Amino acid sequence: MRVLTGILTGILLLSGISSPAKAAGVTDYTLGDYRVFCFSEGDRATAFEKITLPEKSAALRAQAGANASGMNFFVVVSGDECYLIDAGNSGNTTVALLEQTGIRPEQITHILLTHMHPDHIRGLLTAEGQAVFPGAVLHVAREEAVYWSNPAQKGGNFDRARQVLAVYGKRLDCFAQNSEIRFMTSIPAFGHTPGHTAFRLNDGGKSLVFWGDIVHVPIQFADPEIFLSYDVDAQQAIAARKRLMAQLAQSGDFIAGAHILVPGIGRLEAAGEGYRFVPGME
Ligand SMILES: [Zn+2]
Repeated sequence: MRVLTGILTGILLLSGISSPAKAAGVTDYTLGDYRVFCFSEGDRATAFEKITLPEKSAALRAQAGANASGMNFFVVVSGDECYLIDAGNSGNTTVALLEQTGIRPEQITHILLTHMHPDHIRGLLTAEGQAVFPGAVLHVAREEAVYWSNPAQKGGNFDRARQVLAVYGKRLDCFAQNSEIRFMTSIPAFGHTPGHTAFRLNDGGKSLVFWGDIVHVPIQFADPEIFLSYDVDAQQAIAARKRLMAQLAQSGDFIAGAHILVPGIGRLEAAGEGYRFVPGME
């Protein structure tokens, strides 16, 4: 009976997610049977010294908002399953943003990480270093877990990633690429980090691809060869960006990006030698 009550409570609480109040910092969409939320921690500027522009695109620097970056994470709700895609910059902020839609941390059943840079995983730990999402399975690409676990790598970012892997260790799934994770498929997009991964949400017709850090600043749509100092392997990151952008502009599938400006979701159109980003899901 207790189990049944628990299940019913879970269903009731999750059914509450399907009609949340509109909240500042939160955008929500429907894709088939899925509900998709984009949680924004606010747009910000990326320092120009972090951005490398090829000579042919140097003029893009003068564009308004050339170095503006969003800071987003996402939730997909399907029945009684609640997927978090990346986890934001701090546990407190992430929990506060989720609460605006009525989602509580214990309702998150799965966490998918595009990669383990701090702005994507700080939200997984409380200030005391405990798991913010005690009931969730953490899904990380095998290549990503291997990179951050290497004891030869020193520094705060590595310490934090190792802490996350340890804290969620009993509920850790290190997946191989092109894996099915329930209704998501992992797509290798290595380069920004060695295991950087995109996730495709399929719903028969159009897909939505969560592409993590394929783009940091808007001028990368116009020239995918623009890269950032955060890229572990810039040439590999450029290749992944070009490959994904070509596919997604052709297919017309939707894109959700961690650093795409609010609303964080849209699609690509070919424009000149690069692309134009069209926000929204229409
Ligand atoms: Zn990032």
